[in-house]
Amino acid sequence: GEALAVSARVAPLGSRLVLLLVEDLTEARRIEAVRRDFVANVSHELKTPVGALSLLSEAVMDASEDPEAVERFAGRMQIEATRLTSLVQELIDLSRVQNDDPLEDAEPVRVDELVAEAIDRCRHQAGTKQITMAAGGAADLRVWGNRGQLAAALGNLVENAVNYSPARTRVGIAARSVNAAGGDHIEIAVTDQGIGISDKDKERIFERFYRVDPARSRATGGTGLGLAIVKHVAASHGGEVTVWSAEGQGSTFTLRLPEAGAARDRAHQQPARE
Ligand code: ADP
Repeated sequence: GEALAVSARVAPLGSRLVLLLVEDLTEARRIEAVRRDFVANVSHELKTPVGALSLLSEAVMDASEDPEAVERFAGRMQIEATRLTSLVQELIDLSRVQNDDPLEDAEPVRVDELVAEAIDRCRHQAGTKQITMAAGGAADLRVWGNRGQLAAALGNLVENAVNYSPARTRVGIAARSVNAAGGDHIEIAVTDQGIGISDKDKERIFERFYRVDPARSRATGGTGLGLAIVKHVAASHGGEVTVWSAEGQGSTFTLRLPEAGAARDRAHQQPARE
């Protein structure tokens, strides 16, 4: 109704303009639908652990005479609380990567620092599973971008590699500089010997809240937002994230990002005046 009324008003200006306007409204409606879905998904994802916490706290009160049961319920409460915390953290990350212009405070970022930070982030989890982490090639490489967002992206990839791998396997992080016609860039590849991803799922894992196995993902504190964040960060930096995987053998996620070069560094040192 509204679209038609607006179209009628501008019709004399020419049909091309009307067409543009209608397309614009369609796009606006599509964005609105995506937003509604997203809010529904978030609400559902938040309700699950909150509901569990509320049931468990009742169970704890009922079981106050039975210390063993109390301990068991408290343990599960801790798992749900951790899950809630990581979900909220990822929502904050997602809103940050979607709202901030990453290139506004872009700077040369050392790849070895990003790699060290990512490894630190899942050192504990890797330790419990006796997963070996090996990194190579990152020395002297620098990417151009927003440090916080890049750290979130690489951190998510390494976290997934650890989460979706069995005990006593290896996670490798290899960085290299690629000099291509379209501009120099850096590739950071995260390789695991984990469960792998089927061709069918490969197309969907970058969608928000998509999880191949929700039960397994939940058990490891997964939210289904990690790869959506990685994809967003890569794209907003003019890069890309790709996946190679064979079921039962493992996966390699490759993050391609612009390399920080001399020209970019100079531009950074002398910010343009408004
Ligand atoms: P989650 O929080 O569930 O890990 P992600 O967005 O990070 O969400 O990943 C989406 C899904 O992709 C995961 O639930 C998992 O099924 C699959 N996945 C991601 N990384 C890997 C990996 N390295 N190996 C196997 N499966 C993976």
